[in-house]
Amino acid sequence: MKIFRLMPVCLALILPTIAIAQDFDSVEMTVHRVSGNISYIAGMGGNIGLFVGDDGVFLIDDQYAPLTDKIVAAVRTVSDQPLRFLINTHMHPDHTGGNENFGKMGVAIFGHDNVRSQMAAASKVEQPPLITFSKDISFHINGETVHVFKVPNAHTNGDVFVQFEGSNVVHTGDVYRTTTYAYIDASNGGSFLGTIAAHDLLIEVSDENTKIVPGHGVVSDIADVRAVRDMLVVIRDRVAAAIREGTSLAEIQAAGLTTEYDARWNSDSRIGSADSLLGAAYLDMAN
Ligand SMILES: [Zn+2]
Repeated sequence: MKIFRLMPVCLALILPTIAIAQDFDSVEMTVHRVSGNISYIAGMGGNIGLFVGDDGVFLIDDQYAPLTDKIVAAVRTVSDQPLRFLINTHMHPDHTGGNENFGKMGVAIFGHDNVRSQMAAASKVEQPPLITFSKDISFHINGETVHVFKVPNAHTNGDVFVQFEGSNVVHTGDVYRTTTYAYIDASNGGSFLGTIAAHDLLIEVSDENTKIVPGHGVVSDIADVRAVRDMLVVIRDRVAAAIREGTSLAEIQAAGLTTEYDARWNSDSRIGSADSLLGAAYLDMAN
């Protein structure tokens, strides 16, 4: 009887773990060539930037800890050089979960000051970057300069873009995504208006030939980014007008202000949904 009484509790604790483990087991890594020696690895979580050459392997983000072996195996399909540097584009666990594993391999992990402080404040299980910077940092490896720089608070308050100046490639972290509406994590310092400003900055540092690797989704060009920026500006102006008329957030979310964009961008889950985007816009402009 004792065993039977304990079982529901045990199952409740164990089953979610098993479900997650199976999810990770079924994940397959695919390496997508972007330009020159730059690729990205898609698996589960944020797109991992991969830059290889004689000086070693440079990574952008590292998905979840149980995926580290698969990520390393994917890297090894294009390079047998040592894994040396890793940038965290921001603090979310689907971009930083592998930090501890890669750190143990001797990889030097970098991130903005706020990535480290937000992760520490949130008591995250993911290990924060060991090396931080306030504005920007440059790597001079594999024959080109990689410029990593803070952008306006957008998805979080620790977002950076990683620009490969020779190959004309930018990895944007989750500031720019092609899968859903922009997601603004206001609880970690994200901002709707900052997201527009960060899209403006991305357009400013890009040209017609720049290949733009989003945090989630597929490689884009400047026209794709302009289209997202323009959509965000339309939504900004509509929400601002509604706020001026005294409309509540719930009314704004029910008013169809994003209707013509929803088929392309709306997400079924909270992250990337129109309601979430409108909530972030309201938060920025209602006060
Ligand atoms: Zn994120």
